[in-house]
Amino acid sequence: MPDFLHPDKDNFSDDELLQEEKIRPQSFQDFAGQRKTLDNLEVFVAAAKNRGGALDHVLLHGPPGLGKTTLANIIANELGVGCKITSGPVLDKPGSLAGLLTNLEENDVLFIDEIHRLSPIVEEYLYSAMEDYKIDIMLESGPNARSVQIGLNPFTLVGATTRSGMLTKPMLARFGIQSRLEYYTIELLGMIIERSARVLGVKIYEDAALEIARRSRGTPRIANALLRRVRDFAEIKGNGEIEIGITKFALNSLNVDEFGLDDMDNKIMRVMIENFRGKPVGISALATSIGENPETLEEVYEPFLIQEGFMIRTPRGREVTEKAYRHLNISVPKRPDQ
Ligand code: ATP
Repeated sequence: MPDFLHPDKDNFSDDELLQEEKIRPQSFQDFAGQRKTLDNLEVFVAAAKNRGGALDHVLLHGPPGLGKTTLANIIANELGVGCKITSGPVLDKPGSLAGLLTNLEENDVLFIDEIHRLSPIVEEYLYSAMEDYKIDIMLESGPNARSVQIGLNPFTLVGATTRSGMLTKPMLARFGIQSRLEYYTIELLGMIIERSARVLGVKIYEDAALEIARRSRGTPRIANALLRRVRDFAEIKGNGEIEIGITKFALNSLNVDEFGLDDMDNKIMRVMIENFRGKPVGISALATSIGENPETLEEVYEPFLIQEGFMIRTPRGREVTEKAYRHLNISVPKRPDQ
């Protein structure tokens, strides 16, 4: 997958990140889809505002690029409070967490991305902060070491994770609101693309927006990245407007097929069929065969292949479906009972 199409924003250049910021929705109203999550959040946010207290802690989980950071920002905007953003791997010491927490204003939102990657010691500190808005800080070290308790302003922790299964039970239990974000339908992605095009000031036709949507793996981040690339083609090779002809040309040049599958998806299915003869395979064996790390395989590729019916998870491992054989133009082997 080319870096700019990777649903994980760690692969984005600074310019891509800037453009992504520009089109990020700022209110519940601008945020498309995820109806159930949004309906509930709107109620909880309104109730917290009425009470004048902090919103309960929120855990958002689901594959990368579906809107977790966006929702954290929107929650803060709608509450009319500030939002501080950090991530599990960045908060490597209790001191960094304490610094952030003591700087929060009343009812602020603290967004921790990749919360499953917090170190156990930092996680431990977070517990009392989340529960009682207090933290214990160690002063000095050695024989003079002593701990003092510091009171914090009430705040809302919004945690995001692509792997809720990796969160500890005590951590999970501290989130009063938990929501799973789902892949978006083509129609919703079409709407997101049309809105982004308006923000970017480029004209797009409905059929072109839907064509980009179809190839976006159900993921707004990919839809917006594709839109920006198609716009480049439209500006250089077309008349600046995004119509269906230039869209198909651009998407084919980018090697994104009509299901949104890219070279890596196809490689995964091919290896499962050819190297593992279509039999169930474990995630590490598969990752080694395709030269990708198991986490990326599990978080980025597998959920989409499963959702689109190219792969299934069985107790014995991952298996390709007949749809995968047909997609790769490989004849489906006959089962022994046929
Ligand atoms: P990660 O887990 O990688 O941090 P994420 O789930 O936090 O990803 P976001 O950064 O919130 O994803 O969203 C990616 C981009 O997709 C944003 O720039 C935003 O503009 C767009 N986006 C996400 N969800 C929506 C939505 N529901 N409506 C409109 N745009 C959206």
